[in-house]
Amino acid sequence: MSGQHKFILDETRLPRAWYNINADLPVPPEPILHPMTKEPVTPDFLAVLFPMNIILQEVSPERWIEIPDPVRDVYKLWRPTPLYRALNLEKMLDTPAHIYYKYEGVSPVGSHKPNTAVAQAYFNKEAGTKALTTETGAGQWGSALAMACNFFGIDLEVYMVKVSYFQKPYRRIIMENFGAQVFASPTDRTSFGRALLSEHPDSPGSLGIAISEAVEAAATSGGTKKYGIGSVLGHVLMHQTVIGLESLDQLEMAGEYPDIVIGCIGGGSNFAGFTYPFLWKKFTEGKNVRVIAAEPASCPSVTKGKYAFDYGDTAAMAPIVRMHTLGHTFVPPGIHAGGLRYHGMSPSVSALVEHGDIEGRAVRQLATFEAAVQFSRAEGIIPAPESAHAIRVAIDEALECKTRGEKKVIAFNLSGHGHFDMGAYESYLHGQLEDYEYPQEAIEEAMAHLPDVTLPQMSVPA
Ligand SMILES: *Cc1c(COP(=O)(O)O)cnc(C)c1O
Repeated sequence: MSGQHKFILDETRLPRAWYNINADLPVPPEPILHPMTKEPVTPDFLAVLFPMNIILQEVSPERWIEIPDPVRDVYKLWRPTPLYRALNLEKMLDTPAHIYYKYEGVSPVGSHKPNTAVAQAYFNKEAGTKALTTETGAGQWGSALAMACNFFGIDLEVYMVKVSYFQKPYRRIIMENFGAQVFASPTDRTSFGRALLSEHPDSPGSLGIAISEAVEAAATSGGTKKYGIGSVLGHVLMHQTVIGLESLDQLEMAGEYPDIVIGCIGGGSNFAGFTYPFLWKKFTEGKNVRVIAAEPASCPSVTKGKYAFDYGDTAAMAPIVRMHTLGHTFVPPGIHAGGLRYHGMSPSVSALVEHGDIEGRAVRQLATFEAAVQFSRAEGIIPAPESAHAIRVAIDEALECKTRGEKKVIAFNLSGHGHFDMGAYESYLHGQLEDYEYPQEAIEEAMAHLPDVTLPQMSVPA
């Protein structure tokens, strides 16, 4: 018997609500702090950047937040997405494990990111926002938000990391196609950008710098522009939970429940979107599952970073949150090709790692691309390099099952395809990539720049 390859839900099975893990977190949430006063932020501070309907989602204790129909209607252009059983990969590995992957690369821009982009554009439209600002690295988030803003008639200003703007033009052109204005960051449009350029005229930019510019552009717009964020914050992770909610139904169609669920982590959104609905089952029904977060050894925020209060951006203008961090001054090594370059991590993912519900796993670059190529040769999909970190861990777990003769069910999220990442594949296939492990000394040094935070003594319930 050859077995069933894919599990498809029709449009009527598209989830009607997002899952909000705030309702079930086993640890109380930590406060979000103002970058200057280091006191818990007030809604007015957040209201400069986000509309009130999104702020209310960020702090909501409700377990389910209804997905508005206009958002579901856009989701239906590509959702529900397929869940595949990787039968060919299982055979190639000769493992008794069953391997499943949820494929988010079928979205119009090729990743999970439109799941939140569409929601953010919709809620901003509802709140009367005329324009959004945002940052993007290689352009995955920018292209998702550009598509979403196009659907809801909102202008978009994108600060794109300069080196990507020039070296990876295709996603920039996708954003321009959808009507967005794209600027190579650092720009001379913000005071942070101008100050940086006067000191480092040749700066290639970084995600942290681009975030600072996008935040400044919204904060100084006199209320005409708000800011859209692609990962890290709670509402973003929540919008992504359609991934895991669909997967629960699809695994039920397959007649299986996973022993292990895996996602890659940049800021944590595709990982949380896929795995939090399984944690919901664990927290509310006691269904046990191992949850593994895969990250690059060259940007190891969860496995090597410190769990501390730190700024969300390089300029120390974004709020301070408690998270696993390599320090906001972190600059990713030039040799690193696989994405997932953010210095911090979503606060809820960090808290669940600390609590023991999530395991971090760092994987090296060469082994990651090796897994990507192996997966593509078995399943035909060339994965985004980011997603390949999850594939590496899934393959390692399947090989472990082979050694132990265990028939575990392993499920991972394939967050996107790699069709715009052929430069990284070319470097790998031509032997130009190297392994690089981020040095502990660099982390120690960066910790000296963490904000000095003293929280008011919290009362501890008996
Ligand atoms: C942006 C991106 C990621 C990393 O972001 P998260 O918020 O951690 O999900 C992972 N995979 C793909 C394909 C991406 O575009």
